[in-house]
Amino acid sequence: MPTEIPVIPTDARLIYPDHPPDYRDVLRKEMEKRKIPVSIGKTCPVKCTFCYEIDHSYRDTLEPGKTTQEDWNYILDYISKKPTRANENWVWGGNEYMEWTDLFLHPKAMEWLEDFLKYTDKSVTIFTVGYVHVPRIHQLAVQYPNRINFELSVITLHKDHRKALMPHAPSISHLMKVLEGPGVTSANFYSFDHHTMSVDAQTISRLNPHVILWMGCLTPLKGMDEQTVRLCRQGKKTLPEEALRIYEAALPNPTTIHTEPYITAFLNRHKIMTLFDALELEKKDTVVMGKSVYRVLSMYRKNRAHFLPVPNATLGGDSDCTILLTFDDILRRLNGEKVVHIPKCIMESPRGNDCDISGVTLEEFKEKAKCKVKILGKVNTKVADKKLWEHGYLSSYVRDYIANPAAKEFEAIPVPT
Ligand code: SF4
Repeated sequence: MPTEIPVIPTDARLIYPDHPPDYRDVLRKEMEKRKIPVSIGKTCPVKCTFCYEIDHSYRDTLEPGKTTQEDWNYILDYISKKPTRANENWVWGGNEYMEWTDLFLHPKAMEWLEDFLKYTDKSVTIFTVGYVHVPRIHQLAVQYPNRINFELSVITLHKDHRKALMPHAPSISHLMKVLEGPGVTSANFYSFDHHTMSVDAQTISRLNPHVILWMGCLTPLKGMDEQTVRLCRQGKKTLPEEALRIYEAALPNPTTIHTEPYITAFLNRHKIMTLFDALELEKKDTVVMGKSVYRVLSMYRKNRAHFLPVPNATLGGDSDCTILLTFDDILRRLNGEKVVHIPKCIMESPRGNDCDISGVTLEEFKEKAKCKVKILGKVNTKVADKKLWEHGYLSSYVRDYIANPAAKEFEAIPVPT
């Protein structure tokens, strides 16, 4: 039977945009980066005071809207057609183009996670502050062994700090049930004061002696309130004593200290020096770097090049990480240099196209820099990510940082502002 062709009034045609926005473009872009772009909408309702999405004004985020069953069918079908690679984990949630939220608040999340495991042969990494269904998450972990990497953001089990930092998060008693079973792979929690991280480590270890304890400090960033910043900084001061308590407790769990670039840089100082030597730079060459790497090179390779420490001004707060530098941060620090050497990792944001985390491309930077830009290809994300994980054990921190007098010297090196 012939279908009548609708007549579109001329006015409507005139106001129709040139390129009608297709929200599925957003989903496809995320899936090409191995993300599973389930969405609950743009802003996370949990409103943790330390959330790294509080200030994301430096990057554009897109809004595909709350995921419907129809969207999920499309997502699952698209992912199923992608090749399965060994050791590749799909990440639950888009976060390159979309805003990060706790996706287990989506009423269908558990059902769709099960679909993913049932209808694909791929592995998945999930993050949540604990909104998973118990016992279902444990049942899925047993039914699909080694397919779920579940990183549970405990943050803190300290009653008062938890109330201040994450008043809308799941209760401690619910978290205990999540931890007490095979579902969780790693639990991340942090130092905020004396007897915070160390008490949590022992509590979690009693509940689950297999889960990886992923510890350290939270970094204050731009936009966080004063109380949160104060708590995070206080935790940084008590980190060494807290780490020692856990070390002495000799827990059966794998114990790691991550999140602090200054610790990572110092523990990996020999590799940083080897990499620097391989660059074969000259004294007059200006090299851009984060403050922690600046301290390492100023201490062990003094005057071997002109080291230019660049603060993470875009992220603000206490951030100090070379990978998270932006071209805008570098522009603010340039002062008439003729040539500048830039680590490649800065322009290897997962968004692609040689851009930094804010989406500015190398070409755009070159136009504004008014100097010659040379890229240090050997200082790339692959190397940096590998470094981040090497020596990341709590025992390395205790033996080669806390107990090492050179670490005190390293911390005392002044960084030009
Ligand atoms: S649950 Fe996660 S995404 Fe949501 S506010 Fe807290 S830290 Fe941010």
